[in-house]
This record gives sequence, C-alpha cells and structure tokens, in this order.
Amino acid sequence: MNRDALIAADPALRAVADAEETAWINPRLLPFDMVDGLSQLVVSDADIADAAARLQRFAPFIRRAFPETEETNGLIESPLRPIPKMQQRLAAEYHAVIPGRLLLKMDSHLAIAGSVKARGGIYEVLKHAEDLAIGAGLLTIDDDYGKLADMRDFFARYTMQVGSTGNLGMSIGIMSAAIGFRVRVHMSADAKAWKKNLLRSHGVEVIEYADDYSRAVAEGRRASDADPMSHFVDDEKSVDLFLGYAVAAERLAAQLADLNITVDSEHPLIVYIPAGVGGAPGGVSYGLRRLYHDNVHCFFVEPAQCPSVLLGVATQRYEQVSVHDIGIAGKTDADGLACASPSSLVTRIMTNHMAGVFTVSEAHLYDYLRDLNASEGIRIEPSSCASFAGPLGLLRFPDARAYCAVHGLTPERLGHATQIAWATGGRLVPEEIWTEYLATYR
Ligand SMILES: *Cc1c(COP(=O)(O)O)cnc(C)c1O
Repeated sequence: MNRDALIAADPALRAVADAEETAWINPRLLPFDMVDGLSQLVVSDADIADAAARLQRFAPFIRRAFPETEETNGLIESPLRPIPKMQQRLAAEYHAVIPGRLLLKMDSHLAIAGSVKARGGIYEVLKHAEDLAIGAGLLTIDDDYGKLADMRDFFARYTMQVGSTGNLGMSIGIMSAAIGFRVRVHMSADAKAWKKNLLRSHGVEVIEYADDYSRAVAEGRRASDADPMSHFVDDEKSVDLFLGYAVAAERLAAQLADLNITVDSEHPLIVYIPAGVGGAPGGVSYGLRRLYHDNVHCFFVEPAQCPSVLLGVATQRYEQVSVHDIGIAGKTDADGLACASPSSLVTRIMTNHMAGVFTVSEAHLYDYLRDLNASEGIRIEPSSCASFAGPLGLLRFPDARAYCAVHGLTPERLGHATQIAWATGGRLVPEEIWTEYLATYR
C-alpha cells in the first residue's frame, strides 16, 4: 500500500497523509454490548481484577523500595485535577468552545517513573518477578511481599529487556533494578539523552540504535529470545502491559466519585490520551469502556507527523502498517509517541471501542506546554501535551461534531460533560530541559 492507494480506499486519510491536524472518527466503533463478549475473550474483567489484586500484593514491597510511595501505601497513583484556568486560556487563545469541565489526569507525576509507563511497565516487571519467585517456591501469594526486597541475589540471575523511546525503558529499568534484575534497554534514535543518562545512573545497560523504534524493539526481542534467563517486555503485543494500564480505570472511577462527578448518559465522560504504539491509551481506554460502557468516549491523540494507531485501525492492517506507507517520515519531538507502526494487540482490541483519533502539530505541543505552565503552573513533557488537541478539536472539526451528534452528545449533555486530558509524562524532566522546552517553536 502507498499514499495514493490508501487515500483512494479511504478519503478521510487525505488530511492524515498531508500531516495536517485533523479528527479521524472511527467508523467501526460499536455499542459496548455488541462487542463485550468477544472483547472479554481477549481481556476479561477477571483479568483486570487479577492485575489490580497483584498490584495490591506488591504494595508492601513498593513502599519499602520507594519511600516516595509511603503516602499512598505503596500504590502508584496520580492526582486528578480540575484545570479551569487552562480551560479558559485554551478557549480564549484558540477561539474554541470547550464544553463541560476539563480535568487533568496527572500520570505525568506518577511515582517512580514519572510517566504513564509506571502503570504498564512496572506491572509487567512485578508480574514476572512474582512468577519466578512462586515458581522457585520462594513466595506464595499470601506472603508479605515486602520480603522480595531481600531476594535480590535470586533475581540477579535473570535479565529483563525492552525496546524503548525513553519512558518505557525508564519504568522497566528503574523497577527491574529495584527488584534486582539485570536490565538491558534497547533505545531508538528518538530517545532523549537525559533519559539515557538517568537510566545509566540506575545501573541499567543502555544499547543505542541509530534507527527508529520498531528496530530497537526487534533487536531487543532477538537478544532476549536468545537468552533463556531473559524476559522481553514486548510493547507491541504484551497483554501484561495492557492489564497494568487497564487498572487505571477503577482508580479513576474512585477519584471521580471523590470529586462528586457522576458519569451516565446525561453526564458523559470524554478522555483524550496520547498514543505511541497505543498500549497506554489502549489499556486505559479499554478499562474505562468496561466500567462506563457507552457513557465514555475514548479518543487517542497522535502527532500529525506520526499517526500510527490511526492508520492501523483505519486501514485494518494493524501492526502491518507504518506511517512511511502514507508518505510521512514519523519524525516528531514527542519522543514518547514516535512509533511508526502500532501495537498489534491494541489496534485489534480497540477497533470497536475507540471513538477516534485527533492529531496535533509539533508547534502546538510546545504552545500547550507553555499554556499549562502559565495558567496552572503545571509542567508536562511535549508528548503529554498532545492531549489538549482533544478538547480543542471536539467542536472544531466537522467530523468530530458529527460524532457528537450521532452519539447523543447534545449541547446540553456536553454542558454536563467531564473532559479529561491525560498527562502522560513529565516529572523526571531535568530543569535545564524545561528551559529549552519553554522556548521551542516560540
Ligand atoms: C509511552 C508514552 C505514551 C503513549 O504510550 P504508548 O503505549 O506508546 O501508546 C504517551 N505519552 C508519553 C509521555 C509516553 O511516554
């Protein structure tokens, strides 16, 4: 497939091919009840509950290894914060109507990894550690998992490997090092130097490739497969990663309840999550759909320069499509989103669940970064800032307005809506890098 063939097959892809900011609405979204059965064959409610229980079992270990999680009793969770000043600022600056109430889900500030990868990545490391320790007869699920902190010699015989543009490597690297695993992180050319340095400071072996993300993953997978003592965290198809992300939904539900926010047909929930391969937004959105069914509307946001999940779902060619096929180089400053081909798992399981994808220009990532910093005093990294293209785009693009009309998002209901921009990374960005970010595309 090439650019012309893709556009001929689906004219909605013309704006995508031209790397314009756009709203792509998913024509395959189905009512929740119609897809529930098949979806649960792949990832069931019981699977998600099992993942949540596992994270709970690990809480005493996490608390011991990372004192920063003392306050949350060893649970890694982020604040959900209303951002009214940002909402006003965006509306004024971009002449936009942003209905309802805009909140920021601050996974940018998650403990340990400072990004959404603290959900999926850390979960997969812990699951693997548990499997090994139980298999060796050193642990039962009724034990106090705090004792894992004394088993570093056992874990040192095993290696974890992962391909990463940065943040996944940081979450896998930091948690693996805390358990005692040896860790090798295979990094693409997009990875920022400060992320590599930070990883090395944790004793992680960083292997650099002059190529893109797909290559780093392929090399990592190959190296790991050749070593029976090694586990590869496969961002392109891991169900464990997906489950770690999906647990976010029940945690968010509790936070919404704490803020007295109702979600029902009169009070819709609309979420916008930046996507790279799609694992994080896929897992979180899937969990939200399982809780809120058709009352939640899950949009992904991707750089206009790298809309890989959009293409994977739109063409139904899943992981076999690449942004290069449509004539886009896939170069973006949003390092967390620089994945030319999407996840095989997520593009399939989300085909009937995702509402659509908004795309965002490079310059806007930095404009939104400055807007959030100026209005709310919150700093999140450029990849994260993609999420604001969602609330700005919902009533801007005709196709998105048509989505609202078809799905009962009347002006009145939108007036009662809760819109969530998911902030996916930022806490670990060094001070001098902020200075650079705040001045970029100015
Ligand atoms: C990884 C990442 C994402 C997207 O996650 P995927 O699983 O690759 O889709 C979004 N934002 C940031 C900051 C990330 O690091």
